[in-house]
Amino acid sequence: MGPRSAPVSTFTSPAFPAAGESREAILAAVADARSRDLAADGRAFAFIYDAGKETRELAREAYAACMPINGLDPTAYPSARSLELGLVRACLELMRAPATALGTATTGGTESVMLAVKAARDYARRARPEITRPKMLLPVTAHACFHKAAHYLGVEAVTVDVDASFRASAEDARAKMSRDVILVVGSAPSYAHGVVDPIAELASLAKEHGALMHVDACVGGLVLPFLREAGLKSVAFDFTVDGVTSMSMDLHKYGFAPKGSSMLLVRDRALRDAQYFACATWTGYTIVNSTILGSKSLAATGAALAVVRHLGMSGYVRLAREMWSATELLVRTIESLPELRLLARPDMNLFAFTTTDGDLFELADRLTLRGWHVQPTYGYGPSPAHIHLTIDPTNAPKAAEFARDLEACLEGLPRREAPPAEVVGMLALLGQGDAEGGSGAPLDPAMLMASLGIADGVLPERSAMIHRILEAASPELRQKLMVLFVGELFA
Ligand SMILES: *Cc1c(COP(=O)(O)O)cnc(C)c1O
Repeated sequence: MGPRSAPVSTFTSPAFPAAGESREAILAAVADARSRDLAADGRAFAFIYDAGKETRELAREAYAACMPINGLDPTAYPSARSLELGLVRACLELMRAPATALGTATTGGTESVMLAVKAARDYARRARPEITRPKMLLPVTAHACFHKAAHYLGVEAVTVDVDASFRASAEDARAKMSRDVILVVGSAPSYAHGVVDPIAELASLAKEHGALMHVDACVGGLVLPFLREAGLKSVAFDFTVDGVTSMSMDLHKYGFAPKGSSMLLVRDRALRDAQYFACATWTGYTIVNSTILGSKSLAATGAALAVVRHLGMSGYVRLAREMWSATELLVRTIESLPELRLLARPDMNLFAFTTTDGDLFELADRLTLRGWHVQPTYGYGPSPAHIHLTIDPTNAPKAAEFARDLEACLEGLPRREAPPAEVVGMLALLGQGDAEGGSGAPLDPAMLMASLGIADGVLPERSAMIHRILEAASPELRQKLMVLFVGELFA
């Protein structure tokens, strides 16, 4: 279906051109490469956050205009400071931050979160020097980038269980609290299930134990305030909650800005000082970096500010209403179909559902064959394998059409199929190698990809078997297979 199934050739351009090519040829090659990409045509329920042509074009122009601005040195580029502060002020107001609060523009949710964890760690080094092995309480539903932060920064993640609605259990967080905990994390909302954790309870627990509290509003920060403004949904998650010390929010998701724009907000100056990194112990210029990057373009930040100013409160509220009504329609549809089960009633416009006993991955394939792009997700802990849907302004108008197709795809849906016995055997063998500390049975990645029907980095239209295999693998093995897979894509 669609242009995505056309094979991609990586050999059309020379390794290093002997002479410069024409502008036309280069731009045509870019357009050609892009022609196989996921399109913002309203048929994708993942990845795309798009507020329409007018906003997109304004963002493009602002992006180009801000591209040469280098945020490495805001004294040489005063525009870097004024653009960033403009966006910071808008975000602080949305999150109802106190006058002491400050913000930093980052390149994405992952960077905001990694900086929040870095700030918490370095803040604790000063404030609580007796802690030698810092820990953070992390709901099992928190975004994977917190595990990345833990891995990079040497902060141990202690997993907190969730209740039946996939919200963090404050009770379990309390049970797992210890003297070494420097940070408690809550999501507003979690990506997979779209539910907001009990932020007030988690924040008060953190405060009681001298720990910081980060609210990950990467996906919700530019929707929840507008749903509240529209009178549609109100959940406590921002700086008005006592004990919340930092927040992350992605402009490049529901802010509708181009990729490369997120925000980290902190309650006070001391925490931000701990976020900064300075270095004078080398022979070059002394650095002081607010973020992970050194040289950085203000392109995405400038574009984000342009979009915020263009849409304004009224624009975002209108879009939030549209996305919420599409969500309600889909939630009602899923709840009315006995073949499907909604994993949790979402607090905003993204959610997860699964099949009661039909084959989930076959369902995903059937949707793909009808031209929809959904996000099949594997089971982990309390969360079974499911299909995730992210509703945005482009797919919201197609919700009713999608609902009809979804229902049609359930007709004659076979029962869940186990992966073939030989695959399970192969997985067991690979897993065994891991358990023994070895690298596992040798795998030829190229052969593996070919046997799964993955050609030139493009998944086959029917990928149920690939998903069944990955679903059957342990999380550790799944990680390893994915590293292999992506490694092969870039080999
Ligand atoms: C997307 C997301 C992130 C990570 O953001 P990136 O911009 O992809 O790095 C973190 N937390 C939540 C809840 C998210 O949805």
